[in-house]
Amino acid sequence: MKRYFTVLIFGLITTLGICQEKRLLIENVTIIPMHINQVLENKDVVINNGIITELREHIENDTIDYELGRIDGTGKVLIPSFADAHAHLPERENLDSYILINLLNGVTTLRSMRGESWHLDIEKSEFTPKLVLSAPPITRRDSISKSDAEKLFENYKKQGYDFVKILSVKDVNTFDILVAQSKEKSLPLAGHCPSNIGIFNTCQSGVFESIEHLGGFFQLPEKDDIHKAIELSIYNDVYHCPTLDWYFTGQVVEDTLRNRKGVGFLPKERIEDWEKKINSYYFETTEEQRALDRSKNKTSFDTRLKNLRYIYHQGGKLLLSPDASGIYGVPGFGIHTEMQHFTMANISNYDILKAACYNLSKMLNKENEWGTIKVGAKSDLILLNANPLENIQNTEQIDGIVLNGQFYKKEFLLDKLNEKR
Ligand SMILES: [Zn+2]
Repeated sequence: MKRYFTVLIFGLITTLGICQEKRLLIENVTIIPMHINQVLENKDVVINNGIITELREHIENDTIDYELGRIDGTGKVLIPSFADAHAHLPERENLDSYILINLLNGVTTLRSMRGESWHLDIEKSEFTPKLVLSAPPITRRDSISKSDAEKLFENYKKQGYDFVKILSVKDVNTFDILVAQSKEKSLPLAGHCPSNIGIFNTCQSGVFESIEHLGGFFQLPEKDDIHKAIELSIYNDVYHCPTLDWYFTGQVVEDTLRNRKGVGFLPKERIEDWEKKINSYYFETTEEQRALDRSKNKTSFDTRLKNLRYIYHQGGKLLLSPDASGIYGVPGFGIHTEMQHFTMANISNYDILKAACYNLSKMLNKENEWGTIKVGAKSDLILLNANPLENIQNTEQIDGIVLNGQFYKKEFLLDKLNEKR
């Protein structure tokens, strides 16, 4: 009898738990769903327990009581939230403010490109973004035998890393060993295109998810080779994450960098560190040399834009990230800057948004789960005050975000960030 009651009560609790509605309504909004090339106007979106359960024509006199509230989307645009595909998580003590800077800018997915073991222990709260975690990077200094690699990949898989980051590799033999283990343990590789392997072989390895920083292209002198590399990347499902902003800053005078949006939210120690580097650079160089450096950096940046244009026009696959790890790279805020750099490669606003909202989920085969606005998806969302298809700078016009099913006004996130400072 006692057991019967326990089962009954347990059953009741789970039933109540599951049935408890936590609905949020965003009404009369314009939607850019991203998985289909359409713009849907005057829609109501119902999100229940984080899952989009209804997309319907706007109803004027809906009397349902939505537990998590009702957001007026009139004149506003709803898009899936942004994924930073090349993030560098900060020191543990700065993680909370780092996350809030990202949320404030609509970034709710972070693919960490420089794994550390404590990343696996990051506790989940209602404000935790989606994390795609790399294992600690492999470099050319690592001599890795077949049995080393077996143990390494097995451990990384067991520990819960999502992929193995490659910075460089010792030689072709090591690369082959890593590729074989990556296949066997179903743990993909991503990262730099190793210069001793080259972009053709990196693409054809079959396990490389993405090449960062447009790596591999600078080694190709002939245009035909560039086209071949792009073709191979398309055929083998390899994405390119250009991280233009990391390279952009090299052509900009320091005073302009100091005034970048969001700098005031960064940890003081980081700014001091950058300023030290700038000071010693100024100590070692003359104004003429610095001007020459900036103009060289501009030329090499323009080559990057040209390669990105080739990739785009040939139908290559793109991810988006500012790689905010260099001097005056600002996480969160940088995602908008990166989108603005993409326009310099003549990429359409729609495809820029797609690279920022959707492509990472597609690369990870999660496009039915997040990165889109469709029924059944558990996507985080951004409500914008202006349409980014008209002007990509409108991605900065954030009214609020939907994170884990809950709506947060931008002002709320800003207050929370200021508390952490
Ligand atoms: Zn990086």
